Amino acid sequence: MKRIAILGSTGSIGRNSLRVLENLGKEYVPYALSCYSDVNLLVQQALHYHPQVVALVNNEKISILEEKLKGTRIKILSGEEGLCEIAELEKLDLLLNAIIGSAGFLPTLIAVRKGKRIALANKETLVSFGQIIMEELKNNKSEIIPVDSEHSAIFQCINGRADSTIKRIILTSSGGPFRKRKDLSNVTIEDTLNHPVWRMGKKITVDSATMMNKALEIVEAHFLFNVPAQDISVVIHPQCIIHSAVEFVDGSIIAQLSNPDMALPIQYALTFPERKQSITKPLDLTEIASLTFEPPTATAILALSLAYRAIEKGGTTTAVLNASNEVLVDAFLSEKIPLNKITEIINSIINKHSSIKDPTIEEIKEAENWARKEAEKQVNNIRPKTADHRPQAKKKNVLNGQN
Ligand code: MG
Repeated sequence: MKRIAILGSTGSIGRNSLRVLENLGKEYVPYALSCYSDVNLLVQQALHYHPQVVALVNNEKISILEEKLKGTRIKILSGEEGLCEIAELEKLDLLLNAIIGSAGFLPTLIAVRKGKRIALANKETLVSFGQIIMEELKNNKSEIIPVDSEHSAIFQCINGRADSTIKRIILTSSGGPFRKRKDLSNVTIEDTLNHPVWRMGKKITVDSATMMNKALEIVEAHFLFNVPAQDISVVIHPQCIIHSAVEFVDGSIIAQLSNPDMALPIQYALTFPERKQSITKPLDLTEIASLTFEPPTATAILALSLAYRAIEKGGTTTAVLNASNEVLVDAFLSEKIPLNKITEIINSIINKHSSIKDPTIEEIKEAENWARKEAEKQVNNIRPKTADHRPQAKKKNVLNGQN
């Protein structure tokens, strides 16, 4: 029996994970669940899956959870400490971290130090704290299995082969909803949230539209697979059938293919190295008929160049890239800035940042705070200019940390 904790169980990845666990049967047990604030769904999940422990980060709603789970044996935890307590539960076999944003770091670090296996969907942890996490992994008997579909694909293609055999990583990208648009200054929130292939949370969907998702994935791949930035390239592949590929020194390229469905990378992270029947629709190549590939557009190249520059500057700069992006996505969803300003502002913040080499956790957090303040400052500076011709969104969308 494998006891699994899902951090972020009410979000898109979390809900998919529970479907996967249900399909895998009794051998895989949802042992702990957590969410940021969707207390109603958490209660539903708790009553359906009977975990031993649930955690709610938003303390204000804890009384609702206590009330609704009264009479059950489920242990209730709260706050960010609750997530950390879950990460160190003695009986836990695997931590699936599907938290959005930098809040995912601490539970990951704790689980690594406890020698647990981590199924990591929280890419921000690796982007901001990659160097620290990868060093801790070496020192502890722990492992990270990526859940991000591209990184799961790369992990499967590498399949334990030595780093020295890898020539190049080829990250694929759908190109997002604005693949064919040159100007992103007047796109609406509604159009931005309408991804052509993947149904995901708001933050990652906006990141896909700006191509910042792919930029973060370059950094994620760099740390996770120990591959220099110049050996990671991006190809636009609108059908999303090839989830990424690896070119080896002999010129062979190995790719992983499937219908686009997060259930598959989630399941592989849970069952690795085993493979089990999954709920993903089997791929019929004749039905797909053709797969196409394009180089990234100029807009995409700007976003991707931010990742290459952040890796080159090194140290705290990748954390600055991530933290400023978080603030700017939020600003876009609150109608404070147009979409095209996101990469423009990140670019100026990266240029301004004095990077610290081999940073401590504290130094990374300080750099993140600096980047957040800097991003807010720049949002406020451009706000009056954009007020008249901002995107005509119908309603206010506020970024929900666990969507
Ligand atoms: Mg991805």
